Amino acid sequence: MMNCKRAARLMSDELDRDLSGGERFGLRLHLLLCAGCRTYRRQMAFLRQACGRLAPGGDGAGRPPASPPRSAHSGN
Ligand SMILES: [Zn+2]
Repeated sequence: MMNCKRAARLMSDELDRDLSGGERFGLRLHLLLCAGCRTYRRQMAFLRQACGRLAPGGDGAGRPPASPPRSAHSGN
C-alpha cells in the first residue's frame, strides 16, 4: 500500500490532471484504509472550493507560469 505522503501527492495531482488507472486505484484503496487521509482530502476539497469562490473569474484557466523564461538575460 502507498504511504500517506504519496497519497497526499496524488490527491493534489488529481485536481490538476487525470490520474492513471493504477494511481487512482492505489489512492482509493489508501483512502478506504486511512481515516487521516480521508479527512485531509475533505479539507483540501473545501479549501479549493473556498479559494475558487474568492478568486475573480472563478476557474483560473489563464494562470501565468510561475517562473520567467531562462533566456531573458542573455546579453548585458
Ligand atoms: Zn494516509
